[in-house]
Amino acid sequence: MSELAIHGGPKACEHEWSSWPIWDDRERAGLNAVLESGEWWYGARVREFEERYAAFHGAKHGITSSSGTTALETCLAVLEIGAGDEVIIPPYTFVATASSVLRSNAIPVFADIEPHTLCLDPDDVERKITPRTKAIMPVHLAGHMADMDRLGDIARARNLYLIEDACHAWGSQWKGKGAGAVGHCGVFSFQVSKNINSGEGGIILTDDDDLADMCRGFTNCGRRKGKAWYAHYSLGSNLRLTEFQAAILLAQLERYPEQLVRREENAGILNDALRGLPGIGLVETDPRMTRRSYHFYTFRIDSEVLGVSRERFLEAAQAEGVPVREGYPHPLYTNELFQCIQENGIPAHHGWPFGFEVPDYTEVSCPVTEQVCADTCWIMHTALLAAPSTIADMAAAIRKVVSHIGEL
Ligand SMILES: *Cc1c(COP(=O)(O)O)cnc(C)c1O
Repeated sequence: MSELAIHGGPKACEHEWSSWPIWDDRERAGLNAVLESGEWWYGARVREFEERYAAFHGAKHGITSSSGTTALETCLAVLEIGAGDEVIIPPYTFVATASSVLRSNAIPVFADIEPHTLCLDPDDVERKITPRTKAIMPVHLAGHMADMDRLGDIARARNLYLIEDACHAWGSQWKGKGAGAVGHCGVFSFQVSKNINSGEGGIILTDDDDLADMCRGFTNCGRRKGKAWYAHYSLGSNLRLTEFQAAILLAQLERYPEQLVRREENAGILNDALRGLPGIGLVETDPRMTRRSYHFYTFRIDSEVLGVSRERFLEAAQAEGVPVREGYPHPLYTNELFQCIQENGIPAHHGWPFGFEVPDYTEVSCPVTEQVCADTCWIMHTALLAAPSTIADMAAAIRKVVSHIGEL
């Protein structure tokens, strides 16, 4: 009989994985204090969180928003990126990276990712630049930062904005500088699945004073600092957080540095145990990163070498007790939202692209992303908080599947 759990053998990684989100008396006390104070709205706690989070990333300003999505929309709006403008983004990401561009009336242009970082490929970015390009929006996938040296050089040389989608990168650093504070501005999400969360929420970081003021105005109904309440200066929206959310975020941020270290150490254990294993490709951290968050741990499967599909590999690993799964199942541009644009336009976005040529997303091809969607496996951040011994069991379970791969 086979040793593999999928064939009835013993499980290599028995463990109760902790649920998410995590909270304790700090969140409880913060929420109670807000409740009892009667000050429920966009006040001292929101400001305190903004300052602390900006300081955590070495950024001058932090401006909260209702979500990561609306934070991206805010950046694009205040940078006046609109109809006919192109924004270069990767297709291995959550829809908000692209939908924020469409919402701004601009045109998302997909550039491929690098196979070893899963982040935007600067060479392909250069190929996708046109006279209409206004911004590059890299995604720091799973907390690994895109090549900010090269993207920064390209942005400077071509006079483009560099907007970081840092929605997986709380605490990540590039050469000592915090994610979100390397480009012109950067955006984080605090939605419930994220490593720091308040159910919903987001923040924009920037070192630019004017940009910060414009973001504040946009997220607060077009108001201006120090001016009258019913005086409105720009087309904004209401994207404010409540004090309840800020109370939770303050507690989450206090807990976060310890979790960051633990996940980094556990990812190191996985890397050391899996490095060199036939058929398993690691996504090692660029040495220019001085700290990295893990929204998830990624590795790639070579089905030719292993002789089984990723799906079969995942079934076997899951049977051993490893909480591993496929990630983004397809490149963003294969969604109906993009594929139907030529025929139907965009539902709920009348008039787009406002007189400019409609891009044909059925023609887009990013071969690295397509391959990565087919062969990459994710272990989520919650599992990366387990004890090192559990992580070692997890690695042993993966090694076990690989060494018995012929039985699958
Ligand atoms: C979660 C996420 C967002 C959007 O954040 P929300 O707070 O859910 O709106 C944007 N980009 C990426 C890469 C994300 O993972």
